[in-house]
Amino acid sequence: MLKESITTLSGMGEQTAKRFYRLGIYTIAELMEYFPKKHEDRSKVTPIEAAVLDEANNIVATVIKEPILKKVNNRVMVSFEVSDGTEQMTIIFFEQPYMKNNFHVGLIYNFYGTVKLKYNKLNMVSPSYQTLEKYTQQTKLIPVYASTYQLSQFIIRKHIKNAIDIAICNVSDVIPTDIVAKHNLMPKRQAIENIHFPKDDASFVEARRRLVFEELFLLQLSLYILKSDFRQKQAGTVKQSPVDLEAFVETLPFKLTAAQQRVVKEVAADLKLLGAANRLIQGDVGSGKTVVAAIALFIVVRNGFQSTLMAPTEVLARQHFEFLEKTFEAFDISVALLTGSTTKKQKMGLLEKLAKGDIDILVGTHALIEDNVVYAKLGLVITDEQHRFGVRQRLSLAQKGDFPDVLAMTATPIPRTLALILYGDMDISTIDELPPGRTPIKTNAVDSRYYARIYKFMREHVSNGRQCYIICPMVEENEKVENVKDVISYAEKLQAEEFAGLAVEYLHGKMKAKDKNKIMERFANGEIDILVSTTVVEVGVNVPNATIILIENAERFGLSQLHQLRGRVGRGSYESFCILVSDSYNKDTRARLKIMQETTDGFKIADTDLQLRGSGEFFGTRQHGLLEMKIANMYTDIDVLKVVQQEVENIMEAGIYGYSDLFNFMQNEYNPMAPVL
Ligand code: ADP
Ligand code: MG
Repeated sequence: MLKESITTLSGMGEQTAKRFYRLGIYTIAELMEYFPKKHEDRSKVTPIEAAVLDEANNIVATVIKEPILKKVNNRVMVSFEVSDGTEQMTIIFFEQPYMKNNFHVGLIYNFYGTVKLKYNKLNMVSPSYQTLEKYTQQTKLIPVYASTYQLSQFIIRKHIKNAIDIAICNVSDVIPTDIVAKHNLMPKRQAIENIHFPKDDASFVEARRRLVFEELFLLQLSLYILKSDFRQKQAGTVKQSPVDLEAFVETLPFKLTAAQQRVVKEVAADLKLLGAANRLIQGDVGSGKTVVAAIALFIVVRNGFQSTLMAPTEVLARQHFEFLEKTFEAFDISVALLTGSTTKKQKMGLLEKLAKGDIDILVGTHALIEDNVVYAKLGLVITDEQHRFGVRQRLSLAQKGDFPDVLAMTATPIPRTLALILYGDMDISTIDELPPGRTPIKTNAVDSRYYARIYKFMREHVSNGRQCYIICPMVEENEKVENVKDVISYAEKLQAEEFAGLAVEYLHGKMKAKDKNKIMERFANGEIDILVSTTVVEVGVNVPNATIILIENAERFGLSQLHQLRGRVGRGSYESFCILVSDSYNKDTRARLKIMQETTDGFKIADTDLQLRGSGEFFGTRQHGLLEMKIANMYTDIDVLKVVQQEVENIMEAGIYGYSDLFNFMQNEYNPMAPVL
């Protein structure tokens, strides 16, 4: 029942099912476990005059003018006036002409939506609404789900409710009964019901506690199992530091920072140990992780092994390849590149050489984990920007040789306690120092009134030989989303107007890999002055001559993402700037932008990000995903986590005896580490 397709639910058409698929929901169980991102609390009614601008407000008001239907910018618009005695407000719906007949003068409704001020009048666009009568009858905590285009909250709610009604009786508890009893946890079935449709606040809190407990419990247990397996079961090999290691380090164009030296030592010591190394190298953007990787690669190759370096994007893989090829040239070490756009013929030749052991270092994207990539003698696997990969991918690469050493690098700074938990199976090294000579990046958050000044400032930098990034949230113009900059039309406009005469180009994820590479290459060579791009440049890209990054619609990016983007500049000795443009006055947005102005410390930013957004979002979305957390918030649920850790330790000590059901479940059904990509 639980594993049956959602298409078996009554009223679930093929079209709707397809939209659920896009949310990763295929089975009835997945639908039931699609937890809401929040509940709208409709128990409190706000008088219109006290409504908070740019935020959701719950209002009860009377229709005072009949709805009118007109066309605005080619869109059908229905609008009408409401009042609650304190103030008036306009309600607006687009592209829903039938709304005209749904409202009548004198009737009272409950409206829930964002209140905005436009032309000195308050309005609410596309609110959820219901009659006063319905409002008084219903429960006041309404679940809101992360959604996708054309899948309304109403439809999601309806199907989840339906799924629970028919299938909840099949849900069973995986947490051992002694632990459920000891911690007074709500039964699983009741918890699922109440997480979606809570009777009241208290039952929601208990439902959530129960589900958080379970999620963290299973995660901790799996990490524990992974960690205890890794070094013991797997033989691994010893790699001594070679005699010419120092000579190699001398050839690097700079002196290593103290932090880099320390981490190099930790890595070298780990490589020397029997047993496979499994280490995370953490360091803020620009801290210089690449050269640490290069040194590790050098050690391993000198010991007669092959190595591989995997990057999340082709642009980044290519950049690493070029750097390594140059760095190893004088040392007779061969480096090759394998990505999605390597031609079949090239690939055949490359795989042949790899299998014969003629290639020492293979750099690439996730093309590297395909089954047909076979090494003669693989000794080290490095993943760069590891937060972009699932643990599964990391492991499938690690399973390729005879238990190679594994290094993972990440610039997503996470508080240390958290790192220990999330990467519970790994040892951790931290590069906590930036190379010398960097001037801190200056960050300014402004609104669109500043454009003239911004463009002038950018022109000045370009005429001094520097380069700029401009980041937009979207690829193409989209009529559904107003006032959001898109890469293509914005680049065209800038080229024709503000930056006429300069080399302006654009870059986005939907372009062919070949075209992307070309643009990046030209930007890296200084042939492009201004690069208008989506967040594809977010990870890792290194162009030290770029000194300004302008981020449009900054309200649409998360804090950690803004920090990553900002890290594209300030990578050389030039003074660099990050300009955040946003016209939003939403409270959370302002708090985010303020933090960006105040600090460049990645750890502080990550911490604040967690507080502001909760880890559900922080860890859950593809861009930030470390591990997909359905419900737990690593920041606020730290107390639950501690309790859970203790219980997991007890279980591991007790061993299979008494917990065999749980271990069976872990082995056969539980997969906490589904790939993120
Ligand atoms: P990240 O940690 O973000 O991956 P990179 O490895 O790309 O950072 O390094 C960022 C920049 O700093 C590069 O241009 C690199 O050459 C430079 N760099 C790295 N280490 C040092 C150092 N010790 N001294 C000076 N520059 C360095
Ligand atoms: Mg990097």
